[in-house]
Amino acid sequence: MIIGIIGAMDIEVKELISSMADIKKETVSGIDFYQGKLEDKKVVVAECGIGKVYAAVCAQTMILKYEPDIIINTGVAGSLSTDLRIGDIVISDGVVQHDYDASPIGIPPGMISGINLIKVPCNEELVKKLVQAAQVLKDTNVAAGTVASGDQFICSKEKKDCIATTFDALCVEMEGAAIGHACYINKVDFCIIRAMSDMADGSAHMDFDTFVEIAVEKTILIIKNFLRQI
Ligand code: SAH
Repeated sequence: MIIGIIGAMDIEVKELISSMADIKKETVSGIDFYQGKLEDKKVVVAECGIGKVYAAVCAQTMILKYEPDIIINTGVAGSLSTDLRIGDIVISDGVVQHDYDASPIGIPPGMISGINLIKVPCNEELVKKLVQAAQVLKDTNVAAGTVASGDQFICSKEKKDCIATTFDALCVEMEGAAIGHACYINKVDFCIIRAMSDMADGSAHMDFDTFVEIAVEKTILIIKNFLRQI
């Protein structure tokens, strides 16, 4: 069993990489892949870069080159729900691309051509295991639901409300759905773990810098606990 772990930013994966044993690094298309063991489980960890294209390229490369059984995308996100405050956790039960939009020609917003899905589903067992692993966190709200991705940092109430209502999504970020899309077409199970770094509103740009580190720490605890439990 090989677990693939992808984070967009250095801060989201550096603690995992520094905890790995038997580490071997390879760089493909400018993306660093680290093979080794974490909590005694075989893993491949990569920092993909920001946005859907980097995320998809990274997931596809990881699948073809390292053949992971599952891929987990870890990181931070903007909350779309008043029930999820900064530091709370979303585990994806599926992903949507909020900026994938051919609605002017009569196609529903977010409908992905070829696979004909708006929401790409995660494996239910994997979602359950990650929700379970997240119980390691105290005083933290953990919700399973839709993660929305797009190539935009969302920092307005209007935009956030539009994504939340159109896709019934819990949080918004910039990579998860691209990784999910790549995994889906390759028949690899995937799930997204995101800690809220901001509320995707008018203060998001300031909150992001203030809380990104605290949020990341929580996702690292979940991943390590998950690896111990499997
Ligand atoms: N400082 C970074 C840019 C961060 S962009 C740089 O140096 O390039 C924000 C990152 O956090 C993305 O990877 C995205 O997935 C996530 N994210 C957190 N809050 C977000 C929000 N409100 N909207 C979109 N993405 C968000």
